[in-house]
Parts: sequence; C-alpha cells; structure tokens
Amino acid sequence: MQKKVRVRFAPSPTGGLHLGGVRTALYNYLFARHHGGDFILRIEDTDQNRYVPGAEQYIRDCLDWCGITPDESPSAGGPYGPYRQSERKGLYRSYAEKLLENGHAYMAFDTPAELEEMRIKYKTDDNPSPQYNAVTRKKMRNSESLSAEEVTDLLNKQTPYVIRIRMPDNEEIQFTDMIRGKISFNASQVDDKVLLKADGMPTYHLAVVVDDYLMKITHAFRGEEWLSSSPVHILLWRWLGWEAEMPEWAHLPLILKPDGKGKLSKRDGDRLGFPVFAMDWKDPATGEVAKGFRERGFLPEAFINMLAMLGWNDGSAQEIFTKEELTEKFSIDRVHKAGAKFNYEKAKWFNHEWIKRSSDEWIAGKLIEILNDKKISASPEIVVKVAGLIKERCAFLDELWPNSHFFFETPAVYDLDAIRTKWNEEKKNLFTDWIDRSSAISDWSAPLLEKDFKDFVASRNIKPGDALMPLRIMLAGSKTGPGVFDIAELIGKEETIKRIQSTIGLL
Ligand code: GLU
Repeated sequence: MQKKVRVRFAPSPTGGLHLGGVRTALYNYLFARHHGGDFILRIEDTDQNRYVPGAEQYIRDCLDWCGITPDESPSAGGPYGPYRQSERKGLYRSYAEKLLENGHAYMAFDTPAELEEMRIKYKTDDNPSPQYNAVTRKKMRNSESLSAEEVTDLLNKQTPYVIRIRMPDNEEIQFTDMIRGKISFNASQVDDKVLLKADGMPTYHLAVVVDDYLMKITHAFRGEEWLSSSPVHILLWRWLGWEAEMPEWAHLPLILKPDGKGKLSKRDGDRLGFPVFAMDWKDPATGEVAKGFRERGFLPEAFINMLAMLGWNDGSAQEIFTKEELTEKFSIDRVHKAGAKFNYEKAKWFNHEWIKRSSDEWIAGKLIEILNDKKISASPEIVVKVAGLIKERCAFLDELWPNSHFFFETPAVYDLDAIRTKWNEEKKNLFTDWIDRSSAISDWSAPLLEKDFKDFVASRNIKPGDALMPLRIMLAGSKTGPGVFDIAELIGKEETIKRIQSTIGLL
C-alpha cells in the first residue's frame, strides 16, 4: 500500500516571511492537496539566538491569508506533536547518543576561543575559512583526539561539550532530487556539523532529520539553499537506521533579483520599491516596518497564483489559475531547476487580472468598507454598478477609491486647465443649453443620455471630442475614468447638472 503523503513547511521564526518562503509553503500545500495528503507546519526554533518574538504568529497569519492553512501545526495540534522544536527538546539527545555509540558522532569540548584560534591558525590563501572537519578534527579537543581517560576526566568535571557528526573522509554521497535528478557530494566537502549543543538543544541538522522521521514525512521540499546540507541529512538518516523511510527530496529554485544576480532580498524590495514579505512585518527590535503584498493591495488569490508561476507551469500557456486548478495541475517534476527572476510588473499584472475577474459584488464589498470609513452612504445597487465600471482600471485594491470617488462625492478639484484650452462662448452656451434641455429627460440612463448629448453637440456643429472631454472633467474632475454617461447616470440628474453649473462658474 502506498504511504499517505505527508509534507511539511518548516520555517524558523526569525522575522518576516519572504515570498520564497511562502512559495515553499505553497508548493508543499499543493502537493499535499493533489495527493490527498497532509500539510504540516513545524516551527524550527532551536536557534534561540535568532528567535524573534511574534514571528511564529506572523507566519501563521501569512499562511491563513494565503489560504494555505496547515492540517497539523503548533496551534491546530495533531497526532505527531508538539510541532514546535523547542518543545521537543528532550527527545533529540537519545538519537545523538546513538550516533556517539556507533561512532558516527563525537563529543567536542572546544571553547569558542579555541574554535576562533583554529580558524586563525589554519587559515591559508587556499583555505580562507578553515572548518572543523577530518583535517582539523585531530588537532582539536574532542573524543576523537583525546584519550578515553582525558574524556572521562572532562566529563567528570562537567565540562560543556557539543556532539558533532563525524563526516567520512572521502565518500560519495548520492541521492535523487525530484527536480534536479541525481546529486552527488563528496562528504569531505562538508564540515563536522554540531548536532547537539552544550545546553542539550539540537541544531537544525539533527532536529530536521529526527522530526521528519518521527512525523512520517514522505516528501521534503525546501529552498535550494539547503541543498549543500543534504549530505549531512542523508548520512543521519542512514546512520540512525531509517534510510528506507527517508523522504523524497526536492530543492526548489531560488527566487532571483529582478536585476543582476543572486537571491531576491528584502533590500532589493526597498531599493526597487516593492514588497518582498507576504504581509507587513514590524521588526520588534528596531520598530522598522517592511511592506507586505497584502498591505500593498494584493489579493491572496493573485499572490499565490503569481508565486505558483515563479518556478512552475503546467506545460501550457495558461497563467491564471485558481487554487483549485493549481491543486489539480501541480506536480513537482514540472518545477524548474533554474532560479526564477522576480518581476514586479508581472506580479501587478496577476493582481490586475484577479481584480478584473472578481465579481462586481465582491469589489462592491471592498468599496462599501471604504465608504463606511469615510462615512459616506450610498445605495448598494449603485455601488455594485460602480464596481463593475471601475474594476478593469484597478491593479490594486487601493486604486478603487481614486477611480471611483467622483461617484460618491463632488470632486474637490477639476482639471480646469484642460477645459480652458478650448473654452469659448459657444461651448458655454452648449452646456448651459443642454442643462435646460436635459431637465426634460425623464429616463436618465447612460445610452439615452449619450444619444441626446451627442445629437445636441452635432446640431451645434461642434466636434464630439471637444464637448465630451469638458463634460468628463465637469463630472469626474479629471480626463480619465469610466464612460462619462455611466457617471452621469449613476450620480443622477440633479448632481450632474449641479457639477456642470459649478464648473462653468469656475471657468
Ligand atoms: N528551518 C529551515 C528553514 O528555515 C527549514 C529547512 C528545511 O525545510 O529542511 O528554512
């Protein structure tokens, strides 16, 4: 029988959630849903020095906003909890001790000063940052280099020690990555990583393997930056006797800067003026706020659609996918190997497409929130019509109001200069006479108004454009906006006449 798919998103709560992190979560989620499996959120908080208060709650809120809520997590619980590694602290030591017993790990008593000394002493031009490995190991203070008596003595004196993995001297370690195919590393390229710290807290390397095993994870998808750690993890799976249960790995491509080389960073966002985090993140230490896609006015549907396409496609030219479609189509083997360049204009395009596709009623709901804030009342029927007229013009939700305010309030400013260039007595008479004439129009609807106005303009031998542009400014304040007769219809006869009259008065 095939094992039930179980995948995990395992962030460290160290700050805001970068869009690369959300994409990792999303791919995990889509894979789990596609295969009818479980999606787990595990908080990897073993590095207490990097722990940032509030970051875990923030991660949870981001996932909720994106609609990729985990099945098992610190808050939801589940059969394999706890899901916060700091709360699992007690269970890692026995595994580190098992590795000590079978000779794949050793105790290291070096102080921070001794480690620093080693880095300086063995530094050469060819090796600018010497590592704790097969070469240096013998020169350090550990259970490999010291005699059994010396070790017993140190232990009796309660000397603090860490447990390090004993990387083989020269062994090829291979595995198959679901995206990258066969991967091979020589173990000597990797240092003897610490597995258990002096205070008994595991490091990421030990905890990730133990937890993936205990939580019955079947597939581990994570960022490409973890590829170089994979030999350590593979050896741990092997030496702990669990290799048959090792998850399948996939290392996801990086999200790259729009310009230049390298991974997209928060600094790139600041520099180029776009968000890099899913939601606003306030650094509790500095109070500095990093902008989020949510606050910028992205719809979660557009955000996840855009993220899904940053490194994946279904083989067709389709770009707009609902979450349900993504779930149906997603497969890891169609994730690209190469990094994906982030393109903010494209991100905006996704949002615009999603706003256009939203129902008029949904957009009207957003407009009603704005109107309520401004204490402006309007009939829901009108708001729905306005929504339908303006949604095409809005790439962001915060553009709803600038594109619609004139439906609900008299414009505070008019682009009079644009009217003045061609304003004369003839035009003035045209508008004042049309006001008189329009009082008789009983069906105040856009098509009828349009016909009436255009016929009237033609009867005066005036070019339609020369009359329509001023009319638009009189009603909406500026040259841009939806159809001018739609505006007239929705603001009503009285307000239309009032706006024309008051603008004429200003000219
Ligand atoms: N805690 C690691 C991170 O912060 C997780 C890496 C993994 O998924 O193995 O990204």
